[in-house]
Amino acid sequence: MSTNVDAALDDLRSQLGDRVSTAAAVREQHGHDESGWPVMAPDAVVFATERGHVATAVVVCARHGLPVIAYGTGTAVEGHVQAVRGGVVIDLAGMDQVLRVSPGDMDCTVQAGVTRKQLNRHLRDTGLFFPVDPGADASIGGMAATRASGTNAVRYGTMAHNVLSLTAVLPDGRVIETGRRARKSSAGYDLTHLLIGAEGTLGVITDITLRLHGLPEAISAAVCAFPSVEAAVQAASETIQSGVPVARVELLDELQMRAINAYAGLDHAEAPHLFLEFHGSSAGVAEQAEATQAIAAEHGGTAFQWSTREEERNRLWQARHDAFPAAMQLRPGCRPVITDVCVPVSALAGCIARAQEDLAAMPVPGTILGHVGDGNFHVILLCDPDSEEEHAAAKAFNQRLVEQALALDGTCTGEHGVGLGKRGFLAREHGDAVEVMRAVKNALDPQGIMNPGKILPDPPSG
Ligand SMILES: Cc1cc2nc3c(=O)[nH]c(=O)nc-3n(C[C@H](O)[C@H](O)[C@H](O)COP(=O)(O)OP(=O)(O)OC[C@H]3O[C@@H](n4cnc5c(N)ncnc54)[C@H](O)[C@@H]3O)c2cc1C
Repeated sequence: MSTNVDAALDDLRSQLGDRVSTAAAVREQHGHDESGWPVMAPDAVVFATERGHVATAVVVCARHGLPVIAYGTGTAVEGHVQAVRGGVVIDLAGMDQVLRVSPGDMDCTVQAGVTRKQLNRHLRDTGLFFPVDPGADASIGGMAATRASGTNAVRYGTMAHNVLSLTAVLPDGRVIETGRRARKSSAGYDLTHLLIGAEGTLGVITDITLRLHGLPEAISAAVCAFPSVEAAVQAASETIQSGVPVARVELLDELQMRAINAYAGLDHAEAPHLFLEFHGSSAGVAEQAEATQAIAAEHGGTAFQWSTREEERNRLWQARHDAFPAAMQLRPGCRPVITDVCVPVSALAGCIARAQEDLAAMPVPGTILGHVGDGNFHVILLCDPDSEEEHAAAKAFNQRLVEQALALDGTCTGEHGVGLGKRGFLAREHGDAVEVMRAVKNALDPQGIMNPGKILPDPPSG
């Protein structure tokens, strides 16, 4: 269908009035995420506060063949929201209502624009919490759409494990619910998990029913330095294998620790570190920390500090929370290129060691952070925004890293998603299954209006 953008926008305004903005600053703000991909502004932005606004915008766009891009908080890091073919961004931040909390069932339903911190504030007096934590205060809709995870996933799982059902507007404007509130179901195809991780290419999620977890009675936090990344990863793996139910276990490499010391005025050893957290009873979290300390010592771990006191725990973990801004300060004015791979845990130490060797030969600095309990790690490369050579070097590094991860039976992205950045690796990772994904996409979105140009590589020519 040919697109007459002006007619489509007139149609949109006639239905949604001043919810539609075509102001240049608004379009530009919604034309990028936190990645290094350039701004690609949409033709208009619709500010939705209810499902009906989303459905109306999608129907109008479908009528005119105009792309539709859902937008949560714009914290994605692979060029997810860029409007590569123009179109309409639907900003869901105004859909910010927690619709229901059922403490007895340990679940809740939220609108897509609710952020994870907002949800946890809302849950504060219930004794429950929502554990998925990608660091950024992302929207629950965006987190579902990217199948996000983060520091807590080793204990509580990813969005794939914590979403019970979704309500979504499909590309033709139909509204579907993918499930009920039952904890499990064998009823039909699993559309919930089809939409989770679809990055807005199959529909716009408007409501999400989430699994909640009991707040632990006690929490302990620990920090430990290691002589090498391999030693740290081995200690983390052995801790988990020995049955310690670690809630978080994060690896930071030497350069990242140097960055944190400089940024926050700390004096940690400039050596690889593990940051750990344990959840359980008061006695249990003390036992878990002590068992981990013993395992860490066997791997050369030193300066093991741990605490159950909130103030001290916060102090210990602040360094991990500061990791991203601290890395940025290693090279003020730089543009970060962030990459993310995940491999079987047994292959993680070798994969990180190879990445470190590769980094040593790079023209730009790069730090490593890992959710090592899951075999997942990120490299943050700090590039000069004006240097094409540095960006080419970062791209080549990313290529080598992903190839290594795939050779180890890993994945090109453990949690950040595909967006524009990882499209080129999808066929390598999934082979013929990519064509099955394309058939699903074509069946649901025959006009190709939902976040076009993302996830799937261009179809084979001929
Ligand atoms: C410093 C930093 C650290 C990060 N660390 C992590 C981490 O540890 N783990 C992790 O998983 N991620 C991490 N991220 C990435 C990011 O926070 C996640 O991908 C997050 O889930 C994106 O949510 P959002 O609301 O910002 O979505 P957006 O960036 O707005 O959108 C992301 C994608 O989801 C689609 N989308 C958004 N809302 C909807 C909806 N309602 N329906 C359908 N599609 C939708 C968009 O079209 C887009 O394709 C990090 C980002 C930053 C900047």
